[in-house]
Amino acid sequence: MNVNTLSKDKDPMGAAIYDFHANGKAGKLRVLSSQFDEDEIPVKTLFRSLSQMPILEKEALKLATGKILDVGGGSGCHSLALQEMNKEVHAIDISPLSVETMKLRGVKNVELANLFDAQFADTFDTILMLMNGSGIIGELSNMPAFFMKIKQLLNPGGSVLLDSSDLKYLFEDEDGSFLIDLAGDYYGEVDFKMVYKDVEGDQFDWLYIDFQTLNLYAAEYGFEAELIKEGNHYNYLAKLTLK
Ligand code: SAH
Repeated sequence: MNVNTLSKDKDPMGAAIYDFHANGKAGKLRVLSSQFDEDEIPVKTLFRSLSQMPILEKEALKLATGKILDVGGGSGCHSLALQEMNKEVHAIDISPLSVETMKLRGVKNVELANLFDAQFADTFDTILMLMNGSGIIGELSNMPAFFMKIKQLLNPGGSVLLDSSDLKYLFEDEDGSFLIDLAGDYYGEVDFKMVYKDVEGDQFDWLYIDFQTLNLYAAEYGFEAELIKEGNHYNYLAKLTLK
């Protein structure tokens, strides 16, 4: 598992975020994958305000209590909304340009850090992982490391709030049956690479996980998984609490 942070010359999303903050607009943030057609993230959506956020994110912000960790803060949209609510939040990101932008935008506690780095060892009451936050886990084989890490970071009674999607709809046949190769890799394991202007990032693994599978792993590692709310497109918000 990668425990590093990015260098500025390999930080396309950070470059887009920095650019948008500085100029009020940004170019195309391209998303490449070996499994999907090329896509694009509208950079403006990374700057969404509370009222523009999807309902699952609003719910997560409402439920977040105590000392909160915003994992992969990006532009700082969730941290800023939490600060507005007078909640205590700490943001981390592996993207140096995102961290710089968060500071410029007024996020009070920001750190350039990788969730999985052993050096990162503070404790929190709520850990937020939003915008398909399970992605940061990378692949299913990282589940043990993920649960071990959150066990270390959570205060007694604390919980992780994360959103994800069940990608099974991508494999649905016209007759409603699912074409999933059960002997292959888990269908929610994808790879991405981002490109912004002339900045090209390295390829990374990103995990989409259905609630059933998350629940199985959680139980195995001593956590209770609760389905808080479902979205309207195979997506959901879950809460993980140590049993
Ligand atoms: N939460 C933000 C950004 C989501 S994009 C939003 O909802 O708009 C995912 C973010 O996670 C990126 O900024 C990326 O740099 C960061 N990230 C990816 N892996 C990480 C890790 N291991 N530790 C901390 N941050 C990570």
